[in-house]
Amino acid sequence: MVTPTTSVDDNTVGWRFDNTYSRLPDVLFAPAQPAAVPAPRVSILNHRLANELGLNLGVLSAEAAAALFAGQELPADAYPVAQAYAGHQFGGFAMLGDGRAILLGEHHTPSGKLVDIQFKGSGPTRFSRRGDGLAALGPMLREYIISEAMAALGIPTSRSLAVVTTGRQVLRTSPLRGAILTRVAASHIRVGTFEYAARRDEPALRALADYTIDRHYPELTTAPDKYLKFLRAVADRQAALVARWQLVGFIHGVMNTDNVAISGETIDYGPCAFMNAYDPETVFSSIDHAGRYAYGNQPNITQWNLARLAETLLTLLDANPEKSVAMAMEVLGEFPAQFEGYWLAGMRKKLGLQTAEPCDNELIQTLLDWMQKSRADFTNTFRDLSSESLTADHYQTPDFQVWYSRWQQRIGQEGRSNAETFALMRTVNPAVIPRNHRVEEALAAAEEHDDLSVMHRLLTVLASPYELRADGAPYQAPPPDGCNYQTFCGT
Ligand code: AMP
Ligand code: MG
Repeated sequence: MVTPTTSVDDNTVGWRFDNTYSRLPDVLFAPAQPAAVPAPRVSILNHRLANELGLNLGVLSAEAAAALFAGQELPADAYPVAQAYAGHQFGGFAMLGDGRAILLGEHHTPSGKLVDIQFKGSGPTRFSRRGDGLAALGPMLREYIISEAMAALGIPTSRSLAVVTTGRQVLRTSPLRGAILTRVAASHIRVGTFEYAARRDEPALRALADYTIDRHYPELTTAPDKYLKFLRAVADRQAALVARWQLVGFIHGVMNTDNVAISGETIDYGPCAFMNAYDPETVFSSIDHAGRYAYGNQPNITQWNLARLAETLLTLLDANPEKSVAMAMEVLGEFPAQFEGYWLAGMRKKLGLQTAEPCDNELIQTLLDWMQKSRADFTNTFRDLSSESLTADHYQTPDFQVWYSRWQQRIGQEGRSNAETFALMRTVNPAVIPRNHRVEEALAAAEEHDDLSVMHRLLTVLASPYELRADGAPYQAPPPDGCNYQTFCGT
């Protein structure tokens, strides 16, 4: 262990730790310890998030912050564990668990929330299988950028509190700098956690379900049929979440059931990326050969993942298996309409519409078809629609002009001025998203030259995505080679 030269009283930092998860049946986790690291050094600290969490990182010396976020000096009340879970990966079932993550416990925030504090890349656990339990700097900074961008877009997500380098090399296809990300999430309970518990024993499953309901759906704690209502509530949050993804062109990339949080937050940023030109078949992940997790498949896959959750709950739904299946099927059958409802409401807002008309679906679809045919950029098209004049060449085509006048007529029905409508549209259509080439540029500067300034500039622009800052314009352009971009799992 590295002993820091300054030790800081936890009360000064502001930790208010609890260990509610590790009071669950012990088949659900395994005690774990962060590995010793030779030379911890802070790469980035999220002071703004720390403030929201009631933490004051400013009281820590650089050395003490590095020791803390490298797991060398744990908060006094932390009880580190690796969480057990299973999952369907690309459709196939596997027993998994935190192979390179360690949950320190939960922190009580000043606003009364309970959040997981978790290290990613802090060494092997009982669930590491053949993995080394480590993470490289690039993928951890990448998760930091994308998760913080998602939060700024207003999309439920885990957050990134800190990244430290460890001074230890991580062997991938080449040696890389090792790093640890401190992740903050409503919880890390996954569909896969339920799949694991259901395969262990009924008491563990019931305890997990009760705990999850108390923590994430407390209004259901004493409800009759609470497990059925729980399934319906999880499905509802997932429908809302995947609709939010679709509305900004976010592609998660690896929607395995172990990467789906029951809280309804986006978690496990691996090969994710934002779509540029609109195309439902867009895939960035190098391992997703069949396009299982393509942009346009995300809603269907969410429903498939919810079916895996439903299976785990059957024994809790009703003593009669036939009845349980019927109940679960009914909830799953509601999903497409639930998703469609959220998506349509979001799309109407993107087009500045405040009322609902039966023809809206067709109006939206015609625009999307045009975007696909003309390879128009998804983000910029919606943003451009809120400008007074559309000057780019591809907007001068008859197809687009016909659509535009239909849309103008539809807005006209609502009796608002264009200026008012456009102002509303700018509050829901981001001007900037984390463009792949911009993310890569920031990571390259950090990894190759130890220069975090490029990343800080990017993070500043991404922190207010709906307002175009004076320095924001260069971040709007799609990458020159948009279709050839590939992402990797980072393992
Ligand atoms: P992911 O694709 O990141 O969602 O990870 C899938 C599973 O592999 C999870 O159980 C991870 O904990 C595990 N895993 C990924 N990378 C490593 C690693 N380097 N060492 C140990 N386990 C890992
Ligand atoms: Mg994962």
